[in-house]
Amino acid sequence: MAKKSIDAVDVANQAVLMRVDFNVPLDENQQITDDRRIRMALPSIRSVLDRGGKLILISHLGRPKGEGNDSKYSLAPVAERLGELLDQKVQFASDTVGDDARAKVAALNSGEVVVLENLRFHKGEQAGDAEFAAELASMADVYCNDAFGTCHRKDASMVAVPEAMQGKPKVVGHLVAKEIEYLSDVMASPERPFVAIVGGAKVSDKIKVIHNLLEICDKVLIGGAMAYTFSLARGGKVGKSLVEPDKTELAAELIAQAGDKLELPIDTHCGDDFSPNCNKQVVAAGEIPEGWEGLDIGPETAKRYAAIIRDAKTVVWNGPMGVFEMPPFDEGTKTVARAIADGNSTSIIGGGDSAAAIEQLGFADAVSHVSTGGGASLAMLEGQRFAAVDLLDEA
Ligand code: AMP
Repeated sequence: MAKKSIDAVDVANQAVLMRVDFNVPLDENQQITDDRRIRMALPSIRSVLDRGGKLILISHLGRPKGEGNDSKYSLAPVAERLGELLDQKVQFASDTVGDDARAKVAALNSGEVVVLENLRFHKGEQAGDAEFAAELASMADVYCNDAFGTCHRKDASMVAVPEAMQGKPKVVGHLVAKEIEYLSDVMASPERPFVAIVGGAKVSDKIKVIHNLLEICDKVLIGGAMAYTFSLARGGKVGKSLVEPDKTELAAELIAQAGDKLELPIDTHCGDDFSPNCNKQVVAAGEIPEGWEGLDIGPETAKRYAAIIRDAKTVVWNGPMGVFEMPPFDEGTKTVARAIADGNSTSIIGGGDSAAAIEQLGFADAVSHVSTGGGASLAMLEGQRFAAVDLLDEA
């Protein structure tokens, strides 16, 4: 299901409306604290500018409340940083479909770029409003989606805008193309054994993911606090671990669905307090004493999981094995990350905490793909289809 790339469109003198994910973290002084999302969009941006296109960049930033501009969420600092990264002037329009945007778009020359203000300052964006979308669409000759982090949403800029551009090219940028290649194409025809590793705090967030992965994987390894809800479902003792007692029935259903595909921890690294200085002990899974909580998979589990991972040809990982932010409870996550890095599988790391963990532990370069979208990669692992991608032109 390869989609047509921005590289395959003749953009010379054409106005290209590119939806990017410039949802970067800002501090209280509106300074960007991590510009990775801007840097990730550079290949698509350069592809248009280097070939003489006129580039209109649109994005959301944060969750502004209600209608109207809130300077806390302005994209102005992003436009400035983009100018530094490109080493060229980047225009900024103080609205999206108003007079300033129209004037700046009309004045664009070949090879120039304008960033429009935060899409979410207009209530039409999250409402998926067709009128708002038609106004945005009317500014451009080509539409490009390079906002993977938002691909699971149906916001106007993701769906109604390309719908309003019938007859004009509607294509993917480099970032979305890469995400689709890994998360969708590899998952559709994985080399086997295909092993999934699912961890994190809550089983409720990942029930659909586990359910889908059990259908398509050879093994699903469970870690993180969610393991204790599974343990509870099997009658285990979980002490004061983080659990979701109302989800034990669902956990039991997953255990029943899984047969021998599901691997649950066999031991647990516990603490008597949620702190790095707590007293610590390793116990058998399901044997966590009163007053203690599970904070990581135990060493035997980590060894077992690492062996399964090393034999895999395809690995998908979402969610840490323990409280990886608090050593020594990062050991399980580290062992899993190292096994992925040491193996020669095609390895896909879901966004959010697992991406942060693999970066923090220094293994990001040793895996095939670290997804840029937390919610979007989770939705893909659930097997969801994205309207925002489906409606783009085929290659
Ligand atoms: P998630 O966002 O669901 O992937 O969960 C990630 C969070 O789960 C991280 O902040 C981890 O610290 C936390 N976590 C993982 N294992 C445990 C555990 N055993 N007890 C408490 N929190 C955990």
